[in-house]
Amino acid sequence: MNQINQIRQFPYEDAIRDGTARIAAQALGEAKSVSDVSRLYDSTLQFVIQFIDDIAGKEPPPRPVACQKGCAFCCANIHIRATPVEVLRIVQHVAEEFSEKRQKEVLQQVVEGDGHPTSPCPLLIGGACSVYAVRPLTCRGFNSYNATQCELQIRYDVSSAIGGYAHPQKITLAALDGLRLGILEQGLAPDLLELRLALKIAFIVEGAGERWLSGEDLFQAAEAQITDAPETAADNA
Ligand code: SF4
Repeated sequence: MNQINQIRQFPYEDAIRDGTARIAAQALGEAKSVSDVSRLYDSTLQFVIQFIDDIAGKEPPPRPVACQKGCAFCCANIHIRATPVEVLRIVQHVAEEFSEKRQKEVLQQVVEGDGHPTSPCPLLIGGACSVYAVRPLTCRGFNSYNATQCELQIRYDVSSAIGGYAHPQKITLAALDGLRLGILEQGLAPDLLELRLALKIAFIVEGAGERWLSGEDLFQAAEAQITDAPETAADNA
């Protein structure tokens, strides 16, 4: 079982984690379908977005954040991890919002991706996240003050800390931990998955969401092996 991240920087983190865990455990205990799971993701996301907005109003980033449309260095060369809740939300989004052609394109990238650590996320299409509205919390929280640092690390493997605005990352990570705790409390497992492998299972196995909800250890092969905080630790400097 993966350890929940215990390193805290801001007082709100424990409250977000515990509140999310409580809501997630209850929602998953009652959930019967992928739509129910999606509603849990949506309400968590709504809370996260509002919290980030509120904090940013009081403590805005001390420097401009460099992230902008078309910059996708962070979508490669890292193990993107997500809970089954987030994975199932993405699958529902793809089924409901994508044309048949685009669905095939995503499925092909998910299935044919070689899984090498430097290969880009299979959800990256034309240099942009194809599931941006429902992307995993880890992706939503990550940001950088300096895109060149991201490029150096991803393209040229030059290791350097990537500084960014800490609040979005800490808020999303606390919510992520809450989802993980809620999942574990319901006896569902694993709580954290490698995105690419998990998508492969969720797209291909019929009724994957409902089977996972009924307690089947469907995502075992996709369990995340790396349990620490994301490599790109934001700081608030
Ligand atoms: S889910 Fe979207 S934002 Fe996250 S790594 Fe994949 S393409 Fe990038």
